Amino acid sequence: MKLGQLSRHLAALREGYACNCGRTHKASIVDIQVRSNLLASIPDKLRGLGLERAVHLVADTNTMLAAGQVVEGALEGAGFDVTKTVYSTTTHQDLVPDEKSLARLILEIPISAEAILAIGSGTITDLVRAIAYRLGRPFVSVPTAPSMDGYASTVAPLIVGGFKRTFPASPPLAIYADLDVLCKAPSQMIVAGFGDLLGKFTARADWQISRIIHGEYYCQSSLGLITTALEQCSANPEGLYRRDPSLIQGLMEGLILSGIAITMAGNSRPASGAEHQLAHYWEMRSLKEGSHYHLHGTKVGVATPLILDIYSRVLAIDPSSIAAAALRGNYPEPSQMEELIRHHYGSMAEEILRESSGKRLTGEERENRIQLVLSKWDTIKSSLSWLPQADAVTEMLSQVEGATTPEALGLPGEWIEEALIYARHLRARYTVLDLATEMGVI
Ligand SMILES: [Zn+2]
Ligand SMILES: [Zn+2]
Repeated sequence: MKLGQLSRHLAALREGYACNCGRTHKASIVDIQVRSNLLASIPDKLRGLGLERAVHLVADTNTMLAAGQVVEGALEGAGFDVTKTVYSTTTHQDLVPDEKSLARLILEIPISAEAILAIGSGTITDLVRAIAYRLGRPFVSVPTAPSMDGYASTVAPLIVGGFKRTFPASPPLAIYADLDVLCKAPSQMIVAGFGDLLGKFTARADWQISRIIHGEYYCQSSLGLITTALEQCSANPEGLYRRDPSLIQGLMEGLILSGIAITMAGNSRPASGAEHQLAHYWEMRSLKEGSHYHLHGTKVGVATPLILDIYSRVLAIDPSSIAAAALRGNYPEPSQMEELIRHHYGSMAEEILRESSGKRLTGEERENRIQLVLSKWDTIKSSLSWLPQADAVTEMLSQVEGATTPEALGLPGEWIEEALIYARHLRARYTVLDLATEMGVI
């Protein structure tokens, strides 16, 4: 993003502004900086935010080395009272955001700490944002990798009782991402962040089709926040692979702004569609079966070409060839669908059935839906003319030497097929998986 553009967006959001989507957008985040040589100036930045005495750092073994030690030294040198929690890890996936990790923070964050500094990527930031919310203490994010889009998020996905659930959480007061640190992040984390960003193509398309078909609320300016980064990074994945600082910066800004876009829209529509439903489905099975763990963005990345392929198949439908009545017979009635979901999801089924009750259509409802879709077919097709082809995104992933298919991640074929059928029931959100099912493509 051009210099100044980011701060202009932020200033407008802090003030609050009436958007042409009909809503007023306001965000509480005070400062976002993504640039070189930032760590040493963090004490000054904190003072600028009105924090001047005691801070508690949260890091893990790796992020302490990557950034934490420099920040700690700078804070101590500047007269801050510094305490810290450092989780012992060997890889970036050792730490789990569960009850045990959370309890440790509750015990170790001193009552006197004015603020908490999250030095790390996804898991550290999720833990800190959840605790900051519970303790009513501000937190500042110091990202160590452009690996996911949750830095500015107001919710925290945590694993409680073995299940992943989303909890309310505080957004950071500020985000200080040092580009020198980000450029040295492990390559699989950069690949994951790029995957999460590429998922915005299909997230955007899903929001557009739901707006056209169902009249769902839609905010173009929230999407506009992500466009620059998406265009910049997808035009030059090879530069990202080389860790060109301007592209790493673009990626990080795009990921942070995705979180801000979510705050603007009031839900994750700008950043999450069918590709995220597939990723969540695989993540659930990983947790349940204790295998095939991968970074969130890596799964989103390989899911994106799959969803783009479904888009191509849906958009290739010749509307004149659709005989709604003829399709009626192949579609399970709501009671049959319910039974299939119960059988597939077991103990989680009741919650899933409640969430997606609106997706179990009777034959007649489906026929009406098809008529509705066909009546808007030209608008749907023309509004999606910008959507890239699956092959193009696969090529982008391969240019950063990332996995391009779920099979390459080692996910079993059954998980992939079943995700295309069942993942859409995880959320009420309407996506191309629903459209494709209704139209008989899946
Ligand atoms: Zn994501
Ligand atoms: Zn808006």
